[in-house]
Amino acid sequence: MLVGPNEQSFTIHTHIITSHSTFFTAAYSKDYREGQEKLIRLPEINIDTFLVYLQWVYSGRIVITDGHGKLLGAETTTSGYPLTQLYVTAEFLGDTLLRNKIIDRLRKLAGPKRGVPTLQMIHFAYENTATAKSTLRKLFVDCIRLTGSTEFFEKQSDGLPKQLFVEMAMSWAEDSPLHTMTWRFLAKGSGCHYHEHDDVVPTCSEPEPDFFPMSPSI
Ligand SMILES: [Zn+2]
Repeated sequence: MLVGPNEQSFTIHTHIITSHSTFFTAAYSKDYREGQEKLIRLPEINIDTFLVYLQWVYSGRIVITDGHGKLLGAETTTSGYPLTQLYVTAEFLGDTLLRNKIIDRLRKLAGPKRGVPTLQMIHFAYENTATAKSTLRKLFVDCIRLTGSTEFFEKQSDGLPKQLFVEMAMSWAEDSPLHTMTWRFLAKGSGCHYHEHDDVVPTCSEPEPDFFPMSPSI
């Protein structure tokens, strides 16, 4: 396949990539016989992100580096942007399991005073995901609801996507006074609230913790 605007060439085992991605399953299902060459072009996918995707496909691990080969651990907030890019690629390629794994890592990066999601992450998410149903956007909206101070909104009001405010208003409208989210739920829960489950990725067995009784202090 040819990836990125410069059409960098990759040869990938069909049976491995189709086991992860509904996009590739569909691409290889029609008129395709084993051993036959089929060229797929993915000009909109960034090469660095695609390399992280391949590593995931072959090893089942999400390996994010700083661009100089240094590994960024699960707690490193600078991994937030590459993870956001990887999420968008996982959405494009129809890889539900990877999307859920990324969400779980992003949940762990979030937290009071950690600055995640950054403006860069928010913009990338809103420019590259299609609907408010995106679990990435749902997570970002919840993070901002939990951290956003009046000062933050005053300072950033021009810099935030308009659609983010719409989705925050929708999120507020959905809430009953008792159904109040806490960081414990967002960051430490099983994450199933933000997962997607389908024929390939079964529902998580670990139950979500109860919202009740809620404690406002974490
Ligand atoms: Zn789940």
